[in-house]
Formats: sequence, structure tokens, C-alpha cells
Amino acid sequence: MPVSRERARFQSRMHRRRESASRYAAERARRERCPFRLGKSYVCNARLEISVDRNGRTVSHCPQCARREAGICQDCPHPVFGQVRKALRCRECRRARKRAIKRAFYAEHAEELRPLQRERHAAFRAAHPGHDAAASRRWRQRHPDRARAVRARWISKNPQRIKVLRHRWYKTYKAKLRARQAAA
Ligand SMILES: [Zn+2]
Ligand SMILES: [Zn+2]
Repeated sequence: MPVSRERARFQSRMHRRRESASRYAAERARRERCPFRLGKSYVCNARLEISVDRNGRTVSHCPQCARREAGICQDCPHPVFGQVRKALRCRECRRARKRAIKRAFYAEHAEELRPLQRERHAAFRAAHPGHDAAASRRWRQRHPDRARAVRARWISKNPQRIKVLRHRWYKTYKAKLRARQAAA
């Protein structure tokens, strides 16, 4: 009986999924931490839990992968943002984590980044004479929602520019991270 193309694709996906599950089960049995990989850089690395099944065999179980496969956020009980089995966190936790990474990066590299920031600010002051940075900051602190809206509007009006900026930030971050990993 001929199988529809969609059906065949579904079956082959399920087959690959079962194969990878059994491969990971075998690998987990030999390890203390979960070896699950996704994409180029993500390794689960959660501590595995060992239990004994009904037949008396020990079974390694990854609580973090169980959450991921169920589509539950790693940090809270909400559903993940993105594709189930691939996405790790809900929208809010994902944003919070990105913010935390960014903040930690700026804190850690403050000494190297400060001269760059000073240069950028000097260039901005030269281009905008009469701009009162302190007053502007006070306004942002008084109106966080409106400040956020201004920023969002700028981003939506300059999609290419923000792409470049974000890419540059990401590249620097990745390079520093790699250097640190190489040193460790
Ligand atoms: Zn895992
Ligand atoms: Zn969450």
C-alpha cells in the first residue's frame, strides 16, 4: 500500500527519535551527567537520577530532559516558548536569562568595555550638543514603560541596525566565552 509523503516523513522522524532516545539511554547509563546535545553548543549536562525499575535494573533518568520533552520551562511551571523538545524556557524566563547573561558579561568585562563606552558617549555628545544625559536618564527612570516603548519603536524602525548591533554583541560575547573555556 502506498504511503503518503507526509506519513512517510512522520514515520522516519519517529524512527530517528526512537533511535536517538535509545542511543542516549545507553550513554546515560555510563555517565553521571546528561550527555544530551542540541544544535552546535547546547549540552544538557544535568545530574542524572538513578532509579531501579521493576525488574531490578538501574535506570538513568534526566529530570531536565524530561521537562524539555514535556515542553515545560526549565525555571518555572509555564509552557516553553518555541518548539517543544527543543525550546528550554518560557518567554519570560528566556528573556530574564538573556538579560542576566548580558549583565554578567558587562560586569565581568567592565574594565575593557569602559573605554569603548566612553568613546561612544563622546561621539554621541559631539553629535547632540545640548543633550542632558542625566536628565534623560531620570526621565527613563520615571517612565520605564515609555522608555521601553521608545526603545521598541527605535528597534522596529531600524531592523538592520539592531541586527548588526546584536550580532556584534553576540560575537564578542561568544569570543570571550570561548577564550575563558580554553583557559579553564
Ligand atoms: Zn538531560
Ligand atoms: Zn519560565
